[in-house]
Amino acid sequence: MKKHLLIDGQWKETKEYRPLYSPYNNELLAEIAYADAQDVDDAIAAAEKARPVMAKMPAHQRASILEKLVELLTKNEEECTRLLALEAAKPWTTAKAEVARTIMTYKFAAEEARRIHGETIPLDAAPGGEGRITFTLREPVGVVAAITPFNFPMNLVAHKVGPAIAAGNTVVLKPASQTPLTSIFLAELLQEAGLPDGAINVVTGSGSVVGDRLIQDDRVKVITFTGSPAVGIGLRNKAGLKKVTLELGSNSALIVDKGVDIDSIIPRTVTGAFSFAGQVCISLQRVYVHEDLYEAFVEKFVAQTKTLKLGSPLDPETDVSAVISPKDAERALSWIEEARQSGAVVAAGGGREGNIVEPTVLLNVDPKQKVSCQEVFAPIVLINKVASVEEAIAYVNDSRYGLQAGIYTNDIFKALHAAEELEVGGVMINDIPTFRVDHMPYGGVKESGIGREGLKYAIEEMTEMKLISIKK
Ligand code: NAP
Repeated sequence: MKKHLLIDGQWKETKEYRPLYSPYNNELLAEIAYADAQDVDDAIAAAEKARPVMAKMPAHQRASILEKLVELLTKNEEECTRLLALEAAKPWTTAKAEVARTIMTYKFAAEEARRIHGETIPLDAAPGGEGRITFTLREPVGVVAAITPFNFPMNLVAHKVGPAIAAGNTVVLKPASQTPLTSIFLAELLQEAGLPDGAINVVTGSGSVVGDRLIQDDRVKVITFTGSPAVGIGLRNKAGLKKVTLELGSNSALIVDKGVDIDSIIPRTVTGAFSFAGQVCISLQRVYVHEDLYEAFVEKFVAQTKTLKLGSPLDPETDVSAVISPKDAERALSWIEEARQSGAVVAAGGGREGNIVEPTVLLNVDPKQKVSCQEVFAPIVLINKVASVEEAIAYVNDSRYGLQAGIYTNDIFKALHAAEELEVGGVMINDIPTFRVDHMPYGGVKESGIGREGLKYAIEEMTEMKLISIKK
């Protein structure tokens, strides 16, 4: 029942353990080690010791370890799904889908490990640069500190651990306190896959204690963080010369233009809004629908929302389960109430069953309401009427965030215009903003973050470019 820290290839006891409870029914799941500052120092020292081992390991061997991990994850798919469902209250089918994506992410990491390369540079393009052969190398940075959130405990860890190992780095992993079990299991599988001692270290515990230590230590070269803007921006401000990748929050939006076949997009938009109870960084939070279609869209969206099944995450029939904590359920309800009092219409949901917040559809929401301008991270979506795509673009851009946006339209010119105008990291034409596959460049602008993930792009963030010039 007790889960220890992984430091230098050993599962180590520490002074303090804290109980981990299921967000769905409060069942005790495990006792989790709570690292102190010394434990974090030890983990960094182990990662630093393993640094030359990983840096010298040939690409084919790093790829083989990742391929072996893929094999082990595939063999243990059911166990990974169970752990995800338990620790995150992630409905079984959603958890299963995350495990499948995690496997894919490590497959891509194994492939990328084999093709990390630099380029040749024609120095003679500048006077004085003649007579040289010049090229770049990409070298591993060394110790990567990975800090991850609760909402995709396996796949977002994979987006950090996968590229770090592929590039020949070592890792200190700090998973979210609510979801450490899948990271601990992953580390066991990596050991079995043959990763050298110290190449991955897992320090569970308080975000601020572990985070402060990681950010202050000069041996850590890259901080790769996924989580809330408040924490991410705080880390960046303390990072000094460390490279920092931040994958932060959003209030993602979708535009639905006139003339679109609504029936074909309703199921997908409902999934985008309520998958994992809206606790997805690119969850569909705001929908701006052309006035010609508005009434029909709302009617069909609400009808489809009402078919969603609430229940236990372990039930394969469940669509929506508990949010991550009772506090988050309370927050969601208070935001709905605030919106209602300011004139919004609650067209579906609005209540809760235990820690499950009912999938909620709000209409006519003022842009200043929290459910619109902040990240809601709960199963709440607003649908507002617009007179044109242009008006909708202005609403989408009226946001602190800019992760991804979507537009459904039959007009290619409007689509391309929106693609140019939308202030986000990715525009999905004829799809929801919630679309992601794991090798695409992914990340945001504004308060949604800096840097990109997607294996090849994360590897760029986790390697240093070195220039080599040979004078003939
Ligand atoms: P969070 O509260 O910011 O936590 C994220 C991680 O940071 C956890 O491991 C947390 O540890 C740790 N942490 C907390 N305080 C810290 C500190 N002072 N220094 C260093 N680390 C600290 O976020 P969350 O609630 O788990 O996740 C939800 C957020 O993640 C949302 O905003 C969502 O949009 C964002 N997200 C973004 C993406 C993306 O790719 N853009 C993907 C998924 C999620 P503890 O758990 O111990 O507090």
